[in-house]
Amino acid sequence: MNAQFNLMEKIQKLKREKKAVILAHNYQRPEIQDIADFVGDSLELSLCAAQTDAKIIVFCGVNFMAETAAVLNFDKKVLIPDRNALCPMASMLPAELVRLYKRKYPKAKIVLYINSLAEAKAYCDAVCTSANAAEIVNRMDSEVALFGPDVNLARYAQMKTGKKIIPMPRYGFCPVHKLFNKNSIIRLRQAYPDAEVMAHPECDPSIWEVADFVGSTSRMYGRALASKANGFIVATEVGLLHRLKKDKSEAIFIPAYEEAICVNMKLHTLEKVYLCLRDEKYKIRLPPKIISKAREPIEFMLKIRETQR
Ligand code: SF4
Repeated sequence: MNAQFNLMEKIQKLKREKKAVILAHNYQRPEIQDIADFVGDSLELSLCAAQTDAKIIVFCGVNFMAETAAVLNFDKKVLIPDRNALCPMASMLPAELVRLYKRKYPKAKIVLYINSLAEAKAYCDAVCTSANAAEIVNRMDSEVALFGPDVNLARYAQMKTGKKIIPMPRYGFCPVHKLFNKNSIIRLRQAYPDAEVMAHPECDPSIWEVADFVGSTSRMYGRALASKANGFIVATEVGLLHRLKKDKSEAIFIPAYEEAICVNMKLHTLEKVYLCLRDEKYKIRLPPKIISKAREPIEFMLKIRETQR
């Protein structure tokens, strides 16, 4: 415990000296969330990255998130503590596949989930997150949209907008959100009859059917804080429970599946964050052409959020 405390102190000191900011996704380890300047979902972290005046951004999340921060801050150092923190879902949609679909459906607009590589984003019309997928699809002046890489979020956006959505690839998925099982959630519901069930749209639609609320991690967080309920069954990566328990300590939060753990998100440790700040490694490097092409669709999404404030 003392060693952890010392490491936290050292991180805080380095952070001040180097004018750095630490951004952490909701799925990070509890101790990483606790030393971060900001904890949130992809959309919130993108906004933070776009607005920060820090010289160094330490991004505790997976590669596509740090890439998004780098696209928005080409004049700053964006660092990731462990460069093996890759998102398997994002890797399911290489840029060549987006180009192939674009040739096949030239009239369709392309909306990419933020959980995609910068090289793929360079070919889309707009980027979205799980918090605003339907809204972004609705903003496209086309009744048909190509959407990737998550097929469940594509279905969710289709259900909410009534537009025709063509998923690319056909079966892109998050291996963590695929772990939830409808019958297990029904059993949990019976055990905790007063609890609300909250699910992420990356889950299979059969899970949405048994949920009281479907939304991104930021929306789940907001819902839990606003709700009168004192128990919540949470169908997303277990990391979100740390923040929920901390900020609504009077309630109980039950993971819909205890082993819903994103091993990639958990690669970052306090030790690695310390080394990342001390040695200023590992820097996210992207070709300038990708930066300039991916910037526009990301900014399109951020502008919509700005106008709603
Ligand atoms: S939880 Fe799923 S989508 Fe999110 S980073 Fe992990 S593998 Fe990728």
